[in-house]
Amino acid sequence: MVNKLKYLYNAHFYNNAKFNPNLTGLLIDRDRIVKLCFKQDKISPDWEMINLDGAYVYPGFIDSHTHSFSGGIYLSGIDLSECNSIAEVLEYISNALKDKQQCIFAWRFDEEKIAEKRFPTMKELDSVCPDRPLLLRRIDGHSCILNSRARAMISGIKSSAELLFAEDNDLAVNWLQDNLSEEEIIEAYKIAANTALKGGFTTVHTMIGDAQMSNQHFKLICDHLNDFPISFELYPQSFNIKDALELGAKRIGGCILADGSIGSHTAAMTIPYRDKDTKGILYHNDDFWRNFVSQAHKNHLQVAVHCIGDAAIHQINSAFATQDKEEVKELRDELIHCEVTPDSLIQEIAASGAVAVMQPAFDLLWGGNSGLYSERLGERYKIMNRFRTLSQNNITVCGSSDWYVTEMNIAMSLYALIHHHNPEERITPKEAIKIYTENNSWLNHTEESLGLIEEGYIADLSVMDTDFTNSFDWDKVQTLFIMKKGNIVYESH
Ligand SMILES: [Zn+2]
Ligand SMILES: [Zn+2]
Repeated sequence: MVNKLKYLYNAHFYNNAKFNPNLTGLLIDRDRIVKLCFKQDKISPDWEMINLDGAYVYPGFIDSHTHSFSGGIYLSGIDLSECNSIAEVLEYISNALKDKQQCIFAWRFDEEKIAEKRFPTMKELDSVCPDRPLLLRRIDGHSCILNSRARAMISGIKSSAELLFAEDNDLAVNWLQDNLSEEEIIEAYKIAANTALKGGFTTVHTMIGDAQMSNQHFKLICDHLNDFPISFELYPQSFNIKDALELGAKRIGGCILADGSIGSHTAAMTIPYRDKDTKGILYHNDDFWRNFVSQAHKNHLQVAVHCIGDAAIHQINSAFATQDKEEVKELRDELIHCEVTPDSLIQEIAASGAVAVMQPAFDLLWGGNSGLYSERLGERYKIMNRFRTLSQNNITVCGSSDWYVTEMNIAMSLYALIHHHNPEERITPKEAIKIYTENNSWLNHTEESLGLIEEGYIADLSVMDTDFTNSFDWDKVQTLFIMKKGNIVYESH
């Protein structure tokens, strides 16, 4: 078959950090951009012409930190958030059973919204789902109830009550995730990929497994990377370096935890919280991290660690700082979240050479003087998520959603960077776009072939209805097309 070149035209193309009015088209050969076309260039009748109707074309946006599997599982489950009675809950479940094969996961259940003000009983669940395991989870994830089939299959549950909390709740949820079929796991990633496309992304970094069960399905996804319409960059979330090497990973970590979260008062702070007498928790000691990072570096693995409070960021950054600085820079070690950063800590990070992999939407959702951060930490909300100060100190800032925690939505992420609650930490639209294209590509060592609209670069393009260099309403922005390796893989209708 003859390969037809594709010609994209009638659009604004983002090149050299601006929409270049003289740039009139892009010529694509298979997976590459082969020519930037200007007014004087001739159009060949052999090209396949693709009219973009005045849209805005960006290098394919990249999300550098997500939890695709969990997010996909949630979206593939039965959403009970609209239910107002036990009868409705049972009806939703019984309808969904028709097209689900194995385990059944129902979530976003809120008994406050239900007329009866209670969970369904096990007997009620059995009446609609007698022979397949079913787990129904409360909206906050902190409790769940099982049908008889699931209860009989899961060993180790301590409580005799129907409603499960704490360890029993975790046990049940983990069991469900471990007992999905390969098809169901892949389906969760397909849902994540489609969510990414709709949100404007062509590549997503995704965390696989947890610290206990590192490689759950890493291999499976590796074998199916070409079955998804976007690229997944995989992180084995593990402390097991041998495992990571055997899996062929080029990095290790992700949300492997140095500390907890600000919402739950477990992020590790040097000064106690404002609303509770605690400094949070460091989950491991300094030696643990120093050894881990040093072993990973011996095997040339990039390291990524979750650290939110200043004590945790200091601890992880110090583990990086004891390594050869050139190696930290070369491997591009990641401080995931990197939220609470007083000036002195910023100097330490600049000296270690580590990268800050941040979530702009966290400030949008919880920042400002009346937000959750201020409630928990008082004035320290002002030294959180410091995109501008970090960048000005030559620390590379990468951007991500931490999906399912916040939406995978490029417009929301860029908006949050440009409109930080603290005016001193706002960055320009061009800097924001660079974070989600060039910087995020660099994090994955692909900056020479991905992240720009340039000749020779891979034809990953995000075609949007909005000029992000002007003011915009993030929740009105539409992704029009996504081109992945030269093929249109998403089109809005
Ligand atoms: Zn995390
Ligand atoms: Zn995470």
